Amino acid sequence: MTVYLDYNATTPVAPEVFEAMRPWLTTEFGNPSSAYPLGRKAAAALEEARAAVAALAGCEPSEVIFTSCGTESIVTAILSCLELDPDRRHIVTSTVEHSATLKLCERLARKGVEVTLLPVDSRGRLEPEAVREAVRDDTALISLLWANNETGVLFPVEEIAAIAEEKGVPLHVDAVQAAGKIPIFSTGRGITMLSLSGHKLYCPKGVGALVVSRRMRFTPLLWGSQESGRRGGTQNMASIVGFGRAATLARENLAARAEHMRSLRDRFESQILEAVPGCSLNGDPALRLPNTTNLAFEGIESENALLLLAERGLCCSAGSACTTGSVHASHVLRAMGRSEAQARASLRFSFGVGTTEADLAVALRVVPEVIAKIRSLRPLASPVIAK
Ligand code: PLP
Repeated sequence: MTVYLDYNATTPVAPEVFEAMRPWLTTEFGNPSSAYPLGRKAAAALEEARAAVAALAGCEPSEVIFTSCGTESIVTAILSCLELDPDRRHIVTSTVEHSATLKLCERLARKGVEVTLLPVDSRGRLEPEAVREAVRDDTALISLLWANNETGVLFPVEEIAAIAEEKGVPLHVDAVQAAGKIPIFSTGRGITMLSLSGHKLYCPKGVGALVVSRRMRFTPLLWGSQESGRRGGTQNMASIVGFGRAATLARENLAARAEHMRSLRDRFESQILEAVPGCSLNGDPALRLPNTTNLAFEGIESENALLLLAERGLCCSAGSACTTGSVHASHVLRAMGRSEAQARASLRFSFGVGTTEADLAVALRVVPEVIAKIRSLRPLASPVIAK
C-alpha cells in the first residue's frame, strides 16, 4: 500500500477530469484554430475551459491565457513587465519564492536587473509594509507567492494588492499552491497577473494558466496567433479541457475539500508533535494552507528519512533538495532562520482530496518508527529531550 502525502509536489488526475479529457485524446482531435466543424468544436471547448478557470481565479474569461505550466506562466509575467517598460529595471520578490521565480531572477540579476528579495520572519510570514518600502520609481513589478509550497504559509495578498495599486506597480501572484485549497481572487481585486498550474489541481502535468488583467499591457513569451496572440503554439486541448473540469471541481468543492484536508493534517500534526520528541513545526500554525505541514525532527537527515519512509510505502518530501548529487538545505527554511541542520532535518507532508483515514493511521505509525530508527542508528551530539 502506498500512502501519498506529497500533494504539493503533484496530484493524481481526478477520474472526472480524465473522463472529460478522453474525447480530446481520441475522436475530438481538431485544432481549435481550424474553421471547419471539428476545429470549431475544439474552439468551443477551449472557451468553456477558459470560463471555468476564470471562475476559479476570479477574473474575466478573456483574461486567461493557457500555458504549458506554472513555470511558463511565471516567466511570461515577469519578462512581459520588464520588456514593456525598459526603463524600469527593478523587481520586488521574496526570499522564499518557488525556484521558477528565483532562478529567473538570478539570471535577470546577472543581466543587470536589480532584484529586491524581501525577507520573511521565523514563521515564514511577510510584512506587507516591507513591500511598500521596497517599491521604487523604477520597479517593473512585484512578484510574490500566495501560498508557500514548502510550508503552506500564506502571504497577505489583499494588503499587498492594495499597496501595488496605490503605487501603480503591476503585481504578479504565484497562486500555483493556493488555487483549489483556499479561496483566491485576481484581477477583480487588484492583482494584475496570476499564475496557476493544472497538476496541483488533479489535472495532468503540462498545462497552466496566466491571468493578465485586461487593463495591463502584455507581451508574449511565445509569439503566434493562438490565445488571441498572447501565447503562440497549438493549444494542448485534452489537458486544457481537463484543467477546466478540474477548476470547476475545485471551485464547487473548495470548502469541503479544505475541511477534509485540514482535519487529516491537523490530527497528523498534533499527534506527531505529541508522539515524537524533538519535533517542531516550521511555519505559522494558523496562516497556512489547510493541507500542508512541515516538521523538523531533531537529529535526522531528511534524505535518510525519505528513503526509509519510501521503503514503508510513504511518500512525502524533504526540507532539502538534491541537485547534481549534493544535498542543499531548503532556501525557504533557511530564510526563516532555521539552521542548515534544522532545514536538513525537516519533512513536508501535504494532504489531498484522496487522503483517507487509513492513510492517516499508517502515517501516524510509520513516521515515529522511522524517526526513532534513524536516531538509533546515528547517536546524537546533543540528546533529544523527551516532552
Ligand atoms: N510555483 C509554486 C508555488 C509551485 O509549487 C510550483 C510547482 O511545484 C510552481 C510554481 C511551478 O509549477 P509547474 O510545475 O507547473 O511548472
